[in-house]
Amino acid sequence: MSEFVDSIMAQVKAKNPAEPEFHQAVQEVVESLELVIEKHPEYRAAKIVERIIEPERIIIFRVPWVDDQGDAHVNRGFRIEMNSAIGPYKGGLRFHPSVNLGILKFLAFEQVFKNSLTTLPMGGGKGGSDFDPKGKSDNEVMRFCQSFMTELQRHIGQFTDIPAGDIGVGGREVGFLFGQYKRIRNEFVGVLTGKGLNWGGSLIRPEATGYGAVYFAQEMLKARGESLEGKTCLVSGSGNVAQFTTEKLNRLGGRVVTLSDSSGYIYDEEGITPEKLAYVMDLKNVRRGRIKEYAEKYSNVQYTPVDPSLDYNPLWDHKADCAFPSATQNEINEKDAQNLLDNGVYVVSEGANMPTSPDGVELFLDRKILYGPGKAANAGGVAVSGLEMSQNSLRLSWTREEVDKRLQGIMASIHKAANEAAEKYGTPGNYVNGANIAGFIKVADAMLDQGVV
Ligand code: NDP
Repeated sequence: MSEFVDSIMAQVKAKNPAEPEFHQAVQEVVESLELVIEKHPEYRAAKIVERIIEPERIIIFRVPWVDDQGDAHVNRGFRIEMNSAIGPYKGGLRFHPSVNLGILKFLAFEQVFKNSLTTLPMGGGKGGSDFDPKGKSDNEVMRFCQSFMTELQRHIGQFTDIPAGDIGVGGREVGFLFGQYKRIRNEFVGVLTGKGLNWGGSLIRPEATGYGAVYFAQEMLKARGESLEGKTCLVSGSGNVAQFTTEKLNRLGGRVVTLSDSSGYIYDEEGITPEKLAYVMDLKNVRRGRIKEYAEKYSNVQYTPVDPSLDYNPLWDHKADCAFPSATQNEINEKDAQNLLDNGVYVVSEGANMPTSPDGVELFLDRKILYGPGKAANAGGVAVSGLEMSQNSLRLSWTREEVDKRLQGIMASIHKAANEAAEKYGTPGNYVNGANIAGFIKVADAMLDQGVV
């Protein structure tokens, strides 16, 4: 490691102890930026990197709520307002028991670069709570969302900070959050994205992250004169991103053979057809059941429960061409990455945020496979959130075709920007460096223009 990376990482670790995911996200970006800093001493002089790793503001608050039995509970709520150099803070809310400050800071940090790549004017933020929606009734989820928004509404606004969904926050939660914001503030504005279609939402927003990850894979393949037609694909997760990744892969002639949740995964060699995917959508979005039920419903399907004694995830150990990790951070470790490569996988497009550990990423880069890191590959979600904001401001709704066309255009331009930056800074084909650098330069230049703030 160079003196520059060493000194930044020493500061990050000293100031933010016990936040390993934040350290991991910063380290990856700073290593890429070394190439830029050498050519641009003005960034170093203005301490752009030191400023970009420090959140502009962090809000932490108590979220008390009462369950259906009348018992009181207390969760912790967070909003990280990371960087507003190119637009208001924008980024999702995650409700999951694993949520803590370090995880949300890593997500907010990634979001800054991702949002910059989308070409839209959005700064970066992230938030959420350690609340677990699993097993809670609709009324409990509603009461929690109302309590969460009662505090959050003081800090957000359509021109300040516009949250969206993430793990555990889908259409149902966004509805409850929006309802409470509107009630307290007495204004009907686009303060959240991922809204319902008949109250300000955008067509294609639910589909956008999954579709976008597939479009990104398509762009990487196109650069090699190939397509997704006939490709066997491994998908993890079975939530929003996994579902629409599967839907788009089916439409483009791919065959998806796996899906998972935090209890285990299914392997269906015949492929998860549109009919089977409709079953998964009902199972997960309506009945809120477990993926295991898929193996009970269809024949010739293998279900493998999570085995905590294993040091690898067997989902990534099947013959395939492409992998779309769409569950959570660090779900592909070094051994998983090696298994993917040994099984013939040569396209990895990350729907999830930072799903591959650093040594796994290194293996992908060494082997020069088509590896699309999350901040580029999953930017479609926030891009369509940006389009939802535009439609709210214009007070009109674009058609499905119009939004999908714009999404495809944005994913193609993210691919182009990352590809060109990788090439310009001497690491052709390295989308990690390309995405980090292209995302950084736009934000850094805005920060230079706006002075030391
Ligand atoms: P959902 O809550 O809809 O689905 C998450 C899926 O991942 C579920 O199947 C869940 O299983 C599984 N999962 C979550 N945490 C874990 C874990 N610790 N171990 C194993 N499985 C887990 O979330 P999304 O689909 O929206 O998000 C998935 C990923 O995509 C996240 O990394 C998110 O940050 C990223 N992303 C999402 C965007 C969006 O627009 N929604 C935008 C950009 C990125 P279970 O139900 O059992 O918990």
